[in-house]
Amino acid sequence: MGEKVLEGKALALHWRRTKIIATLGPATESPALVEQLLAAGVDVIRLNLSHGSHDHHRRAVTLVRETAARLGHHVAILMDLRGPKLRTGRFEQGAIQLVRGSRVLVTTRAVTGAPGLIPSQYRQLHRDVRRGERILLDDGRLELRVQSVEGRDIQCKVIHGGPLSDHKGMNLPDSRVSAPAFSAKDREDAALAVELEIDFLALSFVRGAADLKRLKRFLQGQGRLIPVISKIERPEAVANIDEILVHSYGIMIARGDLGIELPAEQVPLIQRELVEKARQQSVPVIVATQMLESMIDQPTATRAEVGDVANAALMSADAVMLSGETAAGKYPLRAVETMDRVLREVERHQWEQGCFAPEPTADRSNKVYLLRESMAHAAMQLTRDLEIEAIVVPTRTGTTARIVAAHRPVSPTVGVCAKASVCRLLALHWGIVPVQSTEEETQDWRRMCHHIASCCHLGKAGHDVLLVAGFHDDPARNEPSMKVLHL
Ligand code: PEP
Repeated sequence: MGEKVLEGKALALHWRRTKIIATLGPATESPALVEQLLAAGVDVIRLNLSHGSHDHHRRAVTLVRETAARLGHHVAILMDLRGPKLRTGRFEQGAIQLVRGSRVLVTTRAVTGAPGLIPSQYRQLHRDVRRGERILLDDGRLELRVQSVEGRDIQCKVIHGGPLSDHKGMNLPDSRVSAPAFSAKDREDAALAVELEIDFLALSFVRGAADLKRLKRFLQGQGRLIPVISKIERPEAVANIDEILVHSYGIMIARGDLGIELPAEQVPLIQRELVEKARQQSVPVIVATQMLESMIDQPTATRAEVGDVANAALMSADAVMLSGETAAGKYPLRAVETMDRVLREVERHQWEQGCFAPEPTADRSNKVYLLRESMAHAAMQLTRDLEIEAIVVPTRTGTTARIVAAHRPVSPTVGVCAKASVCRLLALHWGIVPVQSTEEETQDWRRMCHHIASCCHLGKAGHDVLLVAGFHDDPARNEPSMKVLHL
């Protein structure tokens, strides 16, 4: 951001609408790399709590916050709780070979593994599986079929064989997993998130509203309700998506585990359906995993990966996520730059067509939101008809800005807020440019617009902005208004 004044298309396309989430890991934990990622336009940093100590994550949070402040960017931090990731135990020799058609014993007894014997770290496994169900191992590469369960021993037949080493992931796509989505480790990690004032918490392996209520009760007890992103990676979550959307701040389509728990060929259509449903409720939606997977080892993306990123932007997802590409890959910065270029190319096309995405239809049964939705629709229409450069939304909690942007207006939505924490929340949302201003300034619209003009490349006499204001947390005090201002 600077004093430069932009015009027309250059101004409209200066801000990428689809947000980028990058996962930190061994490849990106140096101050120099964090700075490069943020400078390249990463909007949200994800910390994966499946790895690393609390001290390690404390240092990462400090580094991200300090770097973002130095660059003047509003960057959110998303802490991804591990959840009940089921794993096998350890083997005497570090690994065994599973031979197709042979029989193996999976056990929840505390033993070390050996040829024909697989220990399960998940101690309830023998209670959850039934004859005929599948046990998938190592990201679904290996498949066992349960033949019988006796006490803590599960007799299985190997359907797809191969090597199996220590502590590999285990998925039970056919079973009702009784492990709660919010585990004992998640409790400690969520307490850390409260301590560090993390912006978003992602809950893994959510099955329904009950899992979310459990997490929220815990957060309430800790004194801070961090917005929760539900990771959709279990078949039950797909089935219960309506209640999950009601109880979540946002959702993440976690295609890695989802594509193991369900046939991978079902994932693209589920993705489309979930993006549509989330958008309909103005709930932010993230498309995650394997977006530029080959860039873990290669400096360029495959054409199919480029198509996948473009497709997420065409569906108008709020954000796309990089995992291994930035956490452990050889080309983390190039992965972010590639994603940025692909998204911008799609958005240029959408802007030229005059439409980023079809608008969601207002839920007429919800009177609280109907007013906001109708205003957002009108704002969308006005910006299009009057070719307005930006929508400016003074926002206390972020709600009004989120609803305006959920309608995918052609002009960028500048969310102006006194609180840095709300600016960071807005960083996740499609099309919102977060700008921090003082409470005083947001009361004086002209002054606020001048502040925005200088930090958003607006300012030429004749530039128009549309102000949408007047919403309160208490719907009874809503007095919405819209105003066209000439700079
Ligand atoms: C996924 O499974 O796609 C995912 C994002 O979760 P994780 O990386 O935690 O396995």
